[in-house]
Amino acid sequence: MDKFKKIISHSKEYGFIFPSSEIYDGLSAVYDYGQNGVELKNNIKYYWWKAMTQINENIVGIDSAIFMHPTIWKASGHVGAFNDPLIDNKDSKKRYRADVLIEEYLEKIGKKIDKEINKAKKRYGDNFDKAEFLKTNKRILGHQRKIDELNERFVKAFEIGDLKEFETKLGSVSEDANKIYLRPETAQGIFVNYLNVQKTGRMKLPFGISQIGKAFRNEIVARQFIFRMREFEQMEMQFFVKPGTEIEWFKKWKEKRMKWHKILSFGEEKYRFHDHEKLAHYANAATDIEFEFPFGFREVEGIHSRTDFDLSSHQKFSGKKISYFDNELQKSYIPYVVETSIGLDRMFLLVLSAAYTEEEIKKENGKLDKRVVLKIPFFLSPIKLAIFPLIKKDGMPEKAKKIFNDLKFDFNCQYDEKDSIGKRYRRQDAIGTPFCITIDHETLKSETVTIRYRDSMKQERIEIKNLFDILYKKLSINSLLKNL
Ligand code: ATP
Repeated sequence: MDKFKKIISHSKEYGFIFPSSEIYDGLSAVYDYGQNGVELKNNIKYYWWKAMTQINENIVGIDSAIFMHPTIWKASGHVGAFNDPLIDNKDSKKRYRADVLIEEYLEKIGKKIDKEINKAKKRYGDNFDKAEFLKTNKRILGHQRKIDELNERFVKAFEIGDLKEFETKLGSVSEDANKIYLRPETAQGIFVNYLNVQKTGRMKLPFGISQIGKAFRNEIVARQFIFRMREFEQMEMQFFVKPGTEIEWFKKWKEKRMKWHKILSFGEEKYRFHDHEKLAHYANAATDIEFEFPFGFREVEGIHSRTDFDLSSHQKFSGKKISYFDNELQKSYIPYVVETSIGLDRMFLLVLSAAYTEEEIKKENGKLDKRVVLKIPFFLSPIKLAIFPLIKKDGMPEKAKKIFNDLKFDFNCQYDEKDSIGKRYRRQDAIGTPFCITIDHETLKSETVTIRYRDSMKQERIEIKNLFDILYKKLSINSLLKNL
């Protein structure tokens, strides 16, 4: 099984991600986060929020509503400019949506590939090597080329638009109700609050506004797990600057954002920039930070210099003056914007992809065993500390629960008394828990426990009274943030 498939099934088996509405056969390209997933996701949010907002004096956060005045989407260019492309068949007089036609065509080619595989399976019997066949068979490669070409040409054209699929009605009388859209990006919530934040926060240029929130897109090619979803979360920051300084700031944010990624130590070679040559109509510089996912290098974050396109457009459509009075220059102007925009779910997939490790280990009896371990940076791990009584008697569970109750306010802890210690370690490895402690006979005599480290699997005996300090030091992200 390839690594990506393994990650998908691991995510489900260990409570990270479930397909949405699964008992009703699911809803395509929508996913739910489980008990461990929500913890990891919150920890990623915390890392971003802290790094982007709280440690920067000149960046503040907001949380704007998903529903916004419909004219906002005209001003942003999402409605009107990028409507559903429709295709008319002149003979049948039927009208089709172009994305639907494309999807059907892709499915047709997919079926041809399946047919070839089935034929080959019959021909080669037990000797059939599917992976090799997919890589080398000429007909399959031809089909695959067609799929790739089509994807490349059309995905880009459709992914932003199609708000119509996400419209809803607000108000009690539907006929005269306003058409309300589910936002395709969080950025517009920031632009329309620019004046509010600037005035109430008495912000001086350059300054930034950041936000984490849901976004919705009617993706036509949504087959890559949480890489491309119809409902997802974005973490965006719009940085408002003096016109003429935007390229300098663009370069600064490019470097800063890359540093934020690389400091997680997943390997520098796994990241690269992809500078855009063809720019969107509102941008004068743009780049993507790409990460090497199991299916290749793909965008995880975009950094764009958006000029004054959005603020000017909102000024025009709303009729409200949106500008900044520059005390030094003694004049008003519309600020330029540099934005950093990262998909939270895509970042989640990045962490899982980088952390998922299969290892062969030697058991005490000399036999080889396998373990799956998520080597997640400690501060991002869903559970920080697992607490085990060696056996379920002799006062060990009581002692273990006492430690749990002492530490649970500072660290997300888990108590587990089921199965052998070895099995309990495996379960924690599989969800990326950095530390496990075991309460044994010795604990009751000397107030010590064994601590076992996830990555090295080494164990050592430590005093209970030192536990808090050890954990605090190893889990703090302060030194990391200081290096940003
Ligand atoms: P892509 O080309 O991969 O569709 P994009 O260029 O449309 O992405 P942006 O509009 O720049 O993406 O959005 C910023 C970030 O939001 C992306 O870098 C990505 O991490 C995330 N993102 C965009 N669309 C989706 C989606 N459908 N599902 C999950 N995350 C997404």
